[in-house]
Amino acid sequence: MPREQLVGGGLIVALIVLVGVGLWKTSAPHTVAVVRQSKAVMGTSCTLMAIVPSNESVHADQIVHEAETTLRGVEARMSAWLNDSELGRFNAAGASREIPLSPETLAVLRTARQAWTQTGGAFDVTCRPLIELWRDAGRRDMVPTDSALDRARAASSWDDIELTATGAAKRTATASVDLGGIAKGYAIDQAADVLWHACVDGGLVDVGGDLVCFGRPHHGHDWPIDVKNPFGPGILARLRIGGGAVCTSGNYARFTQIGGRRYSHIIDPRTGRPADVALSVTVWALDAVTADVWATALSVLREQGLARLPQSVEALLVVGTKDQHHLICTPGFRLILDEPLPAGLRVWKPPSIAPGPSQD
Ligand code: ADP
Ligand code: MG
Repeated sequence: MPREQLVGGGLIVALIVLVGVGLWKTSAPHTVAVVRQSKAVMGTSCTLMAIVPSNESVHADQIVHEAETTLRGVEARMSAWLNDSELGRFNAAGASREIPLSPETLAVLRTARQAWTQTGGAFDVTCRPLIELWRDAGRRDMVPTDSALDRARAASSWDDIELTATGAAKRTATASVDLGGIAKGYAIDQAADVLWHACVDGGLVDVGGDLVCFGRPHHGHDWPIDVKNPFGPGILARLRIGGGAVCTSGNYARFTQIGGRRYSHIIDPRTGRPADVALSVTVWALDAVTADVWATALSVLREQGLARLPQSVEALLVVGTKDQHHLICTPGFRLILDEPLPAGLRVWKPPSIAPGPSQD
């Protein structure tokens, strides 16, 4: 696509319309925003942006291209949908055989296991047998039988997966993992690292609305980030952040329909059933892995999960139904919300003693 002069600023999420590379004007003199937009990355589209001095735009083109290659590399390794990904091979393997894994995939699995503890079991990548069960139920338009549900629950457990120094082994052949709730965050962090190490003035990696940004924005002093309205077109709120990661989970975009009823794509590991999720959960954190994990975990735990949030992780929840819902956010999230505040927002009051992982 030929280079274009586009006037930057405004809605990051809403601007994902072009596919290609372009130059955006910035509000600072002598700098440009080199923007690369692509489709079909991790099942969605991505926007990569590097703010650089205007004489470095050619180099920045290469950098944003490298960042996109990084995103695709993580997908190739960690997608449970691709049979020849590392994860695909691990899931297809029999029991008691160590499957070698790259240090990256192993690191994500270790982080996922820590997240399982931290979230009191709400974030559980071993629930793939349950994910498959409900996906199949959607295809057949029939809820699973109790015995099928029991079997899938029994097969979804960290007890059946052993992580070694160089790979992973299953104790039972039915064990399998799905990194759909963490790999996107990891990919975004890795791609943002590519921009960061290239010493750009500012950078943004946005994959389907989950994003990391840092440094100088293309306009003004903060990055404007829009949170989509879970009930229809438009935005629910606008954030202004100096940097960090923002990830959103919800059942308004991805769900299964069985017997005319909507079921979330997020499983509540406590029941083995699709979570009766919050309509939308948006999390801000310093890195996208943390934001991605907690967006999924809070979709399961809802308000009760807020007391488990680690330091420097902030959240906004939309809970209820389209006709009867409320919004709740942590005090830290309130600070990054732009005016006007969404109607009906309540700011959560933390308890003086938060429940810790050791209670699980
Ligand atoms: P998105 O893919 O839209 O970012 P999420 O980040 O919430 O959505 O991730 C949801 C994905 O995570 C599901 O599609 C599935 O692959 C996986 N998943 C579902 N339930 C859980 C769970 N309880 N813990 C961890 N991963 C989950
Ligand atoms: Mg996510």
